[in-house]
Formats: sequence, structure tokens, C-alpha cells
Amino acid sequence: MFAERLDRVRRRMAELGVDVLVVSVGADLPWLCGYEAMPLERLTALVVPRDDAATLVVPALEAPRVVERPDVFRLRPWGETEDPVAIVAELVPEPAVAGIGDQMWSRFLIALMQRWTRTRFRRAGEVTAPLRAVKDPDEIAALRAAAAAVDRIAERLRTGEIPLVGRSEAEVSAELGRQILAEGHHRVNFAIVAAGANAASPHHEPGERIIGKGEVVLCDFGGTMAGPGGVGYCSDITRCVWLGEPPSAFVELYEVLQAAQAEGVKAARAGVPAAEVDRVTRARIDEAGYGAFFVHRTGHGIGVEAHEDPYIVEGNEELLVAGHAFSIEPGIYVPGRWGARLEDIVVAGPDGPDPLNRVGHELAVLDV
Ligand code: ZN
Ligand code: ZN
Ligand code: ZN
Repeated sequence: MFAERLDRVRRRMAELGVDVLVVSVGADLPWLCGYEAMPLERLTALVVPRDDAATLVVPALEAPRVVERPDVFRLRPWGETEDPVAIVAELVPEPAVAGIGDQMWSRFLIALMQRWTRTRFRRAGEVTAPLRAVKDPDEIAALRAAAAAVDRIAERLRTGEIPLVGRSEAEVSAELGRQILAEGHHRVNFAIVAAGANAASPHHEPGERIIGKGEVVLCDFGGTMAGPGGVGYCSDITRCVWLGEPPSAFVELYEVLQAAQAEGVKAARAGVPAAEVDRVTRARIDEAGYGAFFVHRTGHGIGVEAHEDPYIVEGNEELLVAGHAFSIEPGIYVPGRWGARLEDIVVAGPDGPDPLNRVGHELAVLDV
């Protein structure tokens, strides 16, 4: 699997005229070689020359964590008194064009630029992002398993099995985190819990505010679960619960949101521009007069990284292809009052949209 990915990466390097990739922390590294680097001041880098074997340059003390794959890369552990940037630079002397991992720390890139003085630098993401965006069946199975896990948690929120009233947002967020792990993820990526007017802030930081009756609670959470080759794949879901009897103004707002989200999912098929999915979702919200309150793009790709290509946003005329996986997550945020968002992960399947999250979409109304 990794060798096959490297083949595809090298073909694209040839197309784009990139001589070497240097990939450090971030999602490209595990996707390419199954190893995830810690974000440390010690450099880890996979060096992929277009026409030569790849080398994983890794701090010697991290080397025991590496699953060796001689068909994919050779290992070059470096000791505490060695200069890892010099090791990288000497693997490929003065390449004409180098692609640098999007999250590589500038301290390493700048040191590398001082050694490769005639090299032109590009983003490795130009090579890898379009490849990573199209998921193979095993990757889709991993995303589906992660989605099913957060669906089970969302169902407990929607039925009141996870208590909300009288607890702080932070307490509920911690509980969601524990359940994300208990449901088989190995990492919690985020667990937004926003009550009442806090739900008008899309990325609200859960705090000490106590959740009460007569308000909305927006929960947006996800984690990372091991998939093919031990590489992690992400989940991401948003559902809203109303505690008590919802006012008609909120019921109307939510109906618009639910219809818009369903329109977006329906449009998410191969051959459709990403921007078109955003347009049809947004149109429904605009028509109902809430357009000014939908303040973000409709969605983002998802895979090894929680947010990656393709972005479902105005201006991205890239055509969706079978295997693209992304969120459809419109929101309506009325500052000072309330807000709502509804999010599923959807795969553009060969025969139309394949929504991975199946838990109920209507507003969950809890008798409290
Ligand atoms: Zn978000
Ligand atoms: Zn989310
Ligand atoms: Zn999302």
C-alpha cells in the first residue's frame, strides 16, 4: 500500500517537475510511510527523491517507534550531536525543485534553504493533497467506522442518555472526549459544546457555563481511529439538542438548516464542482433570509487530517470525483441569541452521495 502510494507520488512529482519531497510532521508522513512524527524540536523527515529510494531521517531515540518497511524507505537515525538538516541536504545535493511538507517547521526549512541555495521551493501539498483527497475502499471503510463510532455518541446525546442540564459545557466536552476514546478512536481531536448564545460562535471553546433548560446545545466532536496500515482516519459530526420546548423561531431556523444540509448531501456526487455543493446549500439558507448568519464554507475534506482537500467553498470549481470524502456542515448563527449547525461526512460515491453519518438529523427535543 505505501509502496503503491509512493509510486503515485513519484509520477505526480514527474508531472510537476519536483525533484525531491521533504515531508516532516503532518498527515503526509503517515500517509506515505505509516509513521507519525512527534512535533519535536528534533527533525523527522521523509526524503523522497523522484528517482531514488526514500529515506526516513529520524532522531535515534525515536527510531524504536518506527515500523521498518524496507520496500518503502530506508531508515537513517541521527544521533544527538549530528545535524539532521545536513543529513537531509546531503541525501539529494542541490535539487532544482524541492517540495516541502506543508507543516514542516520554518526552523528546519530555513536551515535547509541555507544549504540548498539554488533550489526552488514548492509546497509538498501540491503533490500530495490531490492524491490524499481521493480515498481508496480501505480508507473509506476506516472513515465509515469512525463515523459510526461518533454516530453512537450522537445518538446518546439525542436521547438524553448523556445528561446535559446542570452540567458545564466543559464537563460535557470531557465526557464526549471519553466516549470518543471508548468507541475505538485513539485520539480526541475536539469536542465543542456550546449552549444557548454560545452556539452562535462556530468554534466556541467549552467553558464553565452551566447548561440549562430552554436552550440549544450544539455539539461538534471527532477523533482519530486507526485504519489501513495503522494510519489514523478522522471522524467529525455536529448535532444540536434543544432542552425543553423549542420556540417556533428556532424550530423554523433549524428546519431551514436541515433542508439546506440535505440539499448539500444530495448534490455531493462525482462530476459536480465542489463550489456547486456550497452554492445549493447556501441558496436554501439565503432564500429563507438567514444568509448573513451562515458565516463559513459548507465543508472540508477529511481523511488522515481532520481538515484537508477538497474544500467545499465558493471559488473551488474543482470537480468532485468518486472517493472524495468531505463534510457538509452548514450553520446559522444569530449573535447574542442562538445558533445551530448540522454536519455529516459524505463520500462522493460512484453512484451518488454516500453519507457516512446516519444518526437522526432532525432537531433533538428533550423533555427535561
Ligand atoms: Zn469547524
Ligand atoms: Zn465538526
Ligand atoms: Zn467539520
